[in-house]
Amino acid sequence: MKRLLSLLLASVLLLSGCSVNPETLSFECMDTFMQLSVYGDKKTAEAVRDEILRLDALFNANEPDSQVGKLNQSGFVEDADVFSVLEGALKVCQSTDGALDPSVYPLVEEWGFISRDFHIPGKATIDELLQHVDYTKIALNFNRVYIPEKMKLDLGAVAKGYAADKAKALLAKNEVKSAILNLGGTVAAVGAKPDGSDWKVGISDPGSTGGYFATVSLHDKIVATSGSYERYFEQDGKRYCHILDPKTGMSADNGVVSVSIISDNGLYCDALSTALFVMGAEKAQAYWKTQQDLPPFDYILLDDTGKVYVTAGVELTLTDKEKYEVVEVSDK
Ligand code: ADP
Ligand code: MG
Repeated sequence: MKRLLSLLLASVLLLSGCSVNPETLSFECMDTFMQLSVYGDKKTAEAVRDEILRLDALFNANEPDSQVGKLNQSGFVEDADVFSVLEGALKVCQSTDGALDPSVYPLVEEWGFISRDFHIPGKATIDELLQHVDYTKIALNFNRVYIPEKMKLDLGAVAKGYAADKAKALLAKNEVKSAILNLGGTVAAVGAKPDGSDWKVGISDPGSTGGYFATVSLHDKIVATSGSYERYFEQDGKRYCHILDPKTGMSADNGVVSVSIISDNGLYCDALSTALFVMGAEKAQAYWKTQQDLPPFDYILLDDTGKVYVTAGVELTLTDKEKYEVVEVSDK
């Protein structure tokens, strides 16, 4: 948690000189550390925190009494939020041809990414578990969600993004014009800073705890980052990270170190950061140029050779220009 805290503190750069002080709340949630800075009243900031905690209680797949826990045990649940988050997630599953698939959960468990008792599963186990990975079998109908026997879902790849959307809506309802919400790697930059300038959000540097390799300038946008340095184990000199390729059941292994997505929609940001991580640099680029299912988005993809792929709409500042080679992605 200490590491998360330092990561978090480094990832949001609040420039000094703001005339008002924000209401700031920090708490642990969704297996990470969150910090809200809201230029509004305390009650509003607390309402946002409570909303995020409420969603965590619904979505926690490791908690049998949560709504997702119930769904995984019985194959059915009726819940407006589980329905909504899955409705959005399934659009990304379809659009990315299953690079995102919340039903990969039994494999995430088998690899030990939940228990932290890490190991590489054998081929027979992977093949058996892969038989139940198939987002097309998730059925949604008026707040009701149905999944087949032996399927289990995990909303870990999308929950923080959905929570960011709900938090933003709550702030708008309470007429808050300025806030920065760091939901552990998913950051909502609401409006502008009180002095009217853009928010500056740091993108974590995988090579240095607490540091960042770049900052992005944001005005009323959400940025979500998935990184191979967040949760992983090493065996025989090889790194296995917590994002799996749902087609193979293996840990994504294509040279991607981190992917950040910037857009207006937190759920899509979070879902796409995971999906593009699975695709790898080349497929991600082709997908970005051709996809028409989802609203346009920007991305920053760092690979293990030091290349930083950046789409045209990103205002990016590298902290060390010598260390990285920027590859501009454009021509939609
Ligand atoms: P983080 O939660 O660390 O910010 P992500 O948003 O990328 O990172 O979500 C990763 C989590 O989602 C994993 O911990 C796992 O529970 C789950 N997951 C892993 N691979 C996939 C995948 N291909 N599709 C959907 N969920 C996944
Ligand atoms: Mg994600």
